Amino acid sequence: MVDGFGSDHLPYGSVRRRTGAPPRLCVRLQDEAIELGALGDLGVDPGLLDTPNLDRLLAAAPAEWAALRAALASRLAADVPPEARMPLGEAVCELPFTVADYVDFYSSLEHATNLGRLFRPGAEPLLPNWRHVPIGYHGRASTVVVSGTPIRRPVGQLPRDGGPAFAPTERLDIELELGFVTGGPPQPLGEPLPIDAAGERIFGFVLVNDWSARDVQRWEYVPLGPFLGKSFATSISAWVTPRAALDPYRVPSPVQSPTPLPYLRSGDPWGLDVDLAVELNGEVISRGNAAGLYWSVVQQLTHAASNGAVVRPGDLYASGTISGAAPGSEGSLIELTSNGARPLTVGDAPRTFLLDGDRVVLRGRAGGLTLGEVAGEVLPAAAAASRR
Ligand code: CA
Repeated sequence: MVDGFGSDHLPYGSVRRRTGAPPRLCVRLQDEAIELGALGDLGVDPGLLDTPNLDRLLAAAPAEWAALRAALASRLAADVPPEARMPLGEAVCELPFTVADYVDFYSSLEHATNLGRLFRPGAEPLLPNWRHVPIGYHGRASTVVVSGTPIRRPVGQLPRDGGPAFAPTERLDIELELGFVTGGPPQPLGEPLPIDAAGERIFGFVLVNDWSARDVQRWEYVPLGPFLGKSFATSISAWVTPRAALDPYRVPSPVQSPTPLPYLRSGDPWGLDVDLAVELNGEVISRGNAAGLYWSVVQQLTHAASNGAVVRPGDLYASGTISGAAPGSEGSLIELTSNGARPLTVGDAPRTFLLDGDRVVLRGRAGGLTLGEVAGEVLPAAAAASRR
C-alpha cells in the first residue's frame, strides 16, 4: 500500500511499460498505474481513454470528467483485469498532457515581499500594483518537463563588474509552486471568463518546480520581466490530481485588502489546504502550505482571460513561488538563504544555491491525498559552455 493514492484520489498520468510499449492514459491506485483503455465500458467515449495521455480528456466537457470519475470509483472497487495493471516499479511516467500555454503567476504576498527586499533593497518591497492585479508572465511551454527529468545547468549572461559574462549560472534555484491545468471547450476569442465559471475550467493540479537562474534573472528582468533565467526548464508532477479530489480541501483564501475589482471577486472558497515540502538531497529544507496564497486559482485564471485571451485545454498555470510568513516556509533558496548571505546546513555542509549533482524533490499533501512529487537532479552545464 502506498499512502495517499487511494480510491479518493485517482490522479491521471501517462505511463508506459519499461519494455518499450507506447505510453497509455492511466490513473494511479496505490503503487499501480491502471490503464483506462483496458477497463472496458466506463460510460464515456472510449476514444477519450484509449489514448497516450490526458489531451483528449482535457478537451472534453467537464461533465465527462465527472462521469468518468464516478464510473472509475465503482469500476476500480471491483476486480481490475491484470492486463490493465502496470506496477509503477516496472513503468516510466511521461508528461501527463501536452502543455499548451504556460503562465507563471506571483501570487504569494510573502514571496513577492521577500523578493522585493532582495532585488530592490531600500525600496518599498511590494510594488503599488501587487494587491490589485494578479501579476504573471507567459512562460515557455516547450520546456515543461515531467518529474524525474534531469535539469542541465543553464548558461546565460551574468552580471559582473565591468560588464556581463556568458557562463553557467552560479545561482541556480528552485521555486516551489502549485499549478493547475485547464480543459473544456475554449470560450471564443475576445470573451472573458467570468470568475464564477473559472473553477469548472480547472481540470486538476500538479506541483511545479520553476527552476530559476537568479543571476541571469536579475540582469535581464528589467523592464520586461523573466525570460531566459526561467525558460530553460520547468518540472511538473507526473500525476494530475483531479480538481474534484481536492474539493474537500478547499478553504477560504486570506482576506484581501483592498477589496479587488469586481471581476476578481468570488464568493466561493478557493484556497487549497495543501501541505508542501522541499527536499534537497533527502533533507527537508522548507515546509509550507498553499492555503496562504493571496491570489486564488480562480482569480489567477479569470485575470489571465480577462482581456479575452483564450483558455485552452492543456494550459498550465503556476501559482508562483509559495512562501509563508514563518522562517523555514520559504519556497526558494534565494529566500531561504537571504540571497546566499545566510547558508543553510545540508548534509553537515553550508549550502546556498544548487550544485551539480543536487537532487530536489517537491512534495504535497492534502489530508489523505499525496500529490505527485516533482523530482529533478542538476546536471553540469554543457561542455561547450565553459569554452565561451
Ligand atoms: Ca515562478
